[in-house]
Amino acid sequence: MPLQADCSLAQMNTLGLPAQAQWLAQPDNEAALQALLRDPAWAALPRTVIGDGSNLVLAGDIPGLVIRPALQGRAVVSEDSEHVLVEVGAGEHWDSFVAWTLAQGWQGLENLSLIPGACGAAPFQNIGAYGVELSDVLDAVDALSLRDGTARTFTRDECGFAYRDSRFKSAERGQWVITRLRVRLNRTPRLQLTYADLAARFADLPQAQQTPDGLRTLICNIRRAKLPDPVTLPNAGSFFKNPTVSADEHAALQQRFPDLVAFPQADGRVKLAAGWLIEQAGWKGRRVGDLGMHAQQALVLVNHGAAEGRATVTGAQVLAFAAQVRDSVQARFGVTLEQEPVILPAPTSDH
Ligand SMILES: Cc1cc2nc3c(=O)[nH]c(=O)nc-3n(C[C@H](O)[C@H](O)[C@H](O)COP(=O)(O)OP(=O)(O)OC[C@H]3O[C@@H](n4cnc5c(N)ncnc54)[C@H](O)[C@@H]3O)c2cc1C
Repeated sequence: MPLQADCSLAQMNTLGLPAQAQWLAQPDNEAALQALLRDPAWAALPRTVIGDGSNLVLAGDIPGLVIRPALQGRAVVSEDSEHVLVEVGAGEHWDSFVAWTLAQGWQGLENLSLIPGACGAAPFQNIGAYGVELSDVLDAVDALSLRDGTARTFTRDECGFAYRDSRFKSAERGQWVITRLRVRLNRTPRLQLTYADLAARFADLPQAQQTPDGLRTLICNIRRAKLPDPVTLPNAGSFFKNPTVSADEHAALQQRFPDLVAFPQADGRVKLAAGWLIEQAGWKGRRVGDLGMHAQQALVLVNHGAAEGRATVTGAQVLAFAAQVRDSVQARFGVTLEQEPVILPAPTSDH
């Protein structure tokens, strides 16, 4: 498999940050990837996996081997009268996969429409949107050990899924490269409409559009209206996770801020809307130099510099700007925001 030396990643991250991979490999089959991982010539080098770069802050050049799986393929593994078990390669584009499953008449992924990125990255942070998470439909993940190429299949329960989290992102970070995943989809639609006003907006559609396809179109339209397109305004989606606080902390905050946007969780804790906190701290639509928080969605950090053709903004500047936002939310609400996008190369304290 050909490897590229000193390869620019500027076009491979949606924040448009400049960085290089010392070596970039884009294997399109499992055997080639496994051979690379087992090749003694590369054994001493650190290994990093990337997908389409839509959830990354590239804080500098990445040393060693950067692996960007390019495995393609969609296949039905098994089916019965109710369900279809579908497998997809890590290098497939997520939203194309979602569109394809719906075109086959299989329902279950429509709420996850238009999320950028590759299929292999989806389990990494258990992508979620509009009341559905990948873990709701995921059956299993195939992966190779980055250390020695050993193949392993993880069942859904073994993936350690949580809100924007998994064993691949947390407990065993940097240990696995995901090669394939399998999702279980419905033949008879069971639409998930519990998120915010989604049910009302769906009910407003003409009867003929009240279908899984219609829901996909609705969600795509909502997303396009409020999220900046990374092609025209580089960004990495939500820059912070929604923080969770205890019921007592929530009660105290609500007394001080009666408009606080909050979602009670099954375990008694309360999830706060990070976008609301950031907006209240004065960051919505605010720009400092080449960076800012988006005017329609305060949770999204945007790189105006890259949008205006200046490739000068660095990952370090992004992290310093994000720290300002985090600090002001902390000062006003006493709530600590956790960053969602992954920093590469991994800071040493990250492990
Ligand atoms: C405009 C916009 C909107 C977004 N909306 C959402 C949303 O609604 N919900 C949501 O959950 N996310 C959202 N995101 C974030 C992002 O799209 C997802 O996290 C996506 O899954 C990242 O895919 P990627 O291929 O770009 O991964 P990358 O950004 O390249 O990588 C992200 C992480 O995954 C790891 N990784 C990637 N591929 C593999 C693999 N094959 N094996 C092991 N590890 C791997 C990388 O090491 C890295 O740590 C949004 C991003 C943008 C820019």
